[in-house]
Amino acid sequence: MDFDLNEEQKTWKKIVHDFVEKELRPKAREVDETEEFNWEAVRKAGPVGLLGLNIPEEYGGSNVDAISNAIAMEELGWGCGSTALAFTAHNSLGCAPVSQFGSEELKKKWLPVVVSGKNKLGSLALTEPGTGSDLQGGVTTRAVKDGDEWVINGAKMWNTNAGIAEYIVTLVRTDPQGGSKSLSMILVPTDSKGLTIHPAEKKMGLRGSPTHAVTYEDVRVPLGNLIGPEGRGLHQTLAILDSGRLSIGAIAIGLARGAMELAIQYAKERKAFGQSISEFQAIQFKIANMEMEIDLARTYIYKAAWLKDQKRPYSREAAIAKLYATEMAERVCYDAIQIHGGYGYSREYHVERMYRDARLMTIGEGTSEIQRLVIARQVLAG
Ligand SMILES: Cc1cc2nc3c(=O)[nH]c(=O)nc-3n(C[C@H](O)[C@H](O)[C@H](O)COP(=O)(O)OP(=O)(O)OC[C@H]3O[C@@H](n4cnc5c(N)ncnc54)[C@H](O)[C@@H]3O)c2cc1C
Repeated sequence: MDFDLNEEQKTWKKIVHDFVEKELRPKAREVDETEEFNWEAVRKAGPVGLLGLNIPEEYGGSNVDAISNAIAMEELGWGCGSTALAFTAHNSLGCAPVSQFGSEELKKKWLPVVVSGKNKLGSLALTEPGTGSDLQGGVTTRAVKDGDEWVINGAKMWNTNAGIAEYIVTLVRTDPQGGSKSLSMILVPTDSKGLTIHPAEKKMGLRGSPTHAVTYEDVRVPLGNLIGPEGRGLHQTLAILDSGRLSIGAIAIGLARGAMELAIQYAKERKAFGQSISEFQAIQFKIANMEMEIDLARTYIYKAAWLKDQKRPYSREAAIAKLYATEMAERVCYDAIQIHGGYGYSREYHVERMYRDARLMTIGEGTSEIQRLVIARQVLAG
């Protein structure tokens, strides 16, 4: 049964589903095998509104509500994990800081460029070679004012979309004394002198989503490229990650749903001991667990998204939603392979790719351990 979506959300779901079924799903294996990003999907996704999900219409965005954002991400994850990750890194990480905290000048200059689908995308660099979970204590990339420019030096790691981006929103330390007000976000155009985007990492899954190390050597950008006030970078990062976690959770649900559909289809066709394997209770119980867990995860993501739409606090709910949905997706994809038997282990079948793609979801935008930390802190604080 479907969650009680309103008419607009139901229509949106159908539009995105049809788009993904036509443009992403048939190419999912190819982008994984070739590690080639699906540019055609970007070109076609712009007019559908999938590249400006959190951006007001005046800058060319579709500015959908948080539940509609989750709907879009689930459909994208159902179709192709790689392209889904690139789209969420663009929307939730690359565009959201500019749209939510950037100056009018930055919004006007950059947002229409990246939402159209005609150009490259946006990206966000928080993680560094030496730190991911501990951004407050660990970020060493430094920005110093020099006249009317920022001069940036340092290195970032695991930057989704860097090689296919117009700009990288970069988390930098602007106050060497440290502390919660020592970080800031700065928009760095990818054609900046001194910026090196290294070749894409060789990854276990999501191989059609390019991830890069990036180095900054005396990169100069105008002072106006600072996003929001100086020293707000940590606060901005936490807000962006709360929202991004809903997207990652929704992609995980899409991956799980895709794997479950294939497992059911296979279970009905495959015969053993004179009957279809779907008639064995052991297989039925796996399918029942998949149905239950996917439904629970989706309902909780929608709850957290609803809170966001009501402008109420939702950090705890975002952490629970992301944690449950991503660990659930791993269980579902694991069982989908199990139901396929030996064929599940073959690259000829899609479920092994979904399993590899799902694995990242418990790591990116805050590991499962960090989600448990966020939840426990709130519970223990009473
Ligand atoms: C494919 C991919 C795409 C990514 N895309 C981006 C991107 O676009 N932008 C970006 O900025 N980053 C990106 N990342 C980075 C990702 O967000 C980090 O890998 C993640 O936050 C974990 O950081 P880390 O790898 O430094 O691990 P660490 O922080 O070093 O953690 C290592 C282990 O220690 C655990 N740990 C750490 N601290 C604690 C604690 N306090 N309590 C308990 N356990 C703890 C962690 O949970 C983990 O198990 C991406 C990563 C991957 C693999």
